[in-house]
Amino acid sequence: MSVDPSPYLILDRRFRYMVQPNAKLDRVATGFRWAEGPVWFSDHQVLLFSDIPNQRMMRLTMDGELSVFRAPSNFANGNTRDRQGRLISCQHGTRSVTRTEIDGTITTLADSYQGKRLNSPNDVVVRSDGSIWFTDPSYGILGHYEGFKSPQDQAKRNVYRLDPASGTLTSVVDDFVQPNGLAFSPDESLLYVADSGSSHDPDVPSVIRAFRVGPDLSLGGGEVHATIDNGLPDGFRVDTDGNVWTSAGDGVHCFAPDGMLIGKIFVPEAVANVAFGGPKRNRLFITATTSVYGIFVDAQGAV
Ligand code: MG
Repeated sequence: MSVDPSPYLILDRRFRYMVQPNAKLDRVATGFRWAEGPVWFSDHQVLLFSDIPNQRMMRLTMDGELSVFRAPSNFANGNTRDRQGRLISCQHGTRSVTRTEIDGTITTLADSYQGKRLNSPNDVVVRSDGSIWFTDPSYGILGHYEGFKSPQDQAKRNVYRLDPASGTLTSVVDDFVQPNGLAFSPDESLLYVADSGSSHDPDVPSVIRAFRVGPDLSLGGGEVHATIDNGLPDGFRVDTDGNVWTSAGDGVHCFAPDGMLIGKIFVPEAVANVAFGGPKRNRLFITATTSVYGIFVDAQGAV
């Protein structure tokens, strides 16, 4: 069902060529409490995503056919796939990052750092070398709605890199208020990380920062790449041209590789995350509070 005859705000001509004026925003599925963690499975042409408070993960086809993929989900949040196609998930309930093996068994990849439990892994991305990078804010232990209310054992809310072969977990950034979504630039020379700390402290800037990835996988820089002018950045994705498509309070904001806000797609609910899908990876799936929306764009998700 189309929900808005004109969902676009075009702020720069670059964005004009990335959207189709006659492509409408469709509400593909609804009935969730907080939809998050969308991940596209091109081999099955389905979208998996989390419905965090409802303790379930859902499976959605291109035709809008909806089913439960996993319940209970241990309050799963962000999802991605590794280089072998296996599902990698952040779970608030177990305060861990897990991998779903091909036979369906679930392997815990990380649940502690320096002998203390992680806070509540939120979002995750896998680099082409197989390393797994995830954020560890405190949202999943702040209350009972999206996990189990618990004290924070870690001194900080870090961004981590995990070597799945050795199990070595390394803190790569430790100065975020609440690190949240993260994604690499197409050539993987940059790692973008969102700070959503304004959720609980209005003085925290709603920004996405850019870090340079060194040859030894250490991070440098960390300058502000994009500033969100409505709500806060949660999850986001990067397209093949390096544009950042991020969640925000009023919809999806698109930032060019130079950090300029070039356009918006207005969505009638607060957006938590996005993922490119479809046979051409040009359909942007948007998890937004109670619903999942879809819209065809002239951009393709970076693989
Ligand atoms: Mg998130």
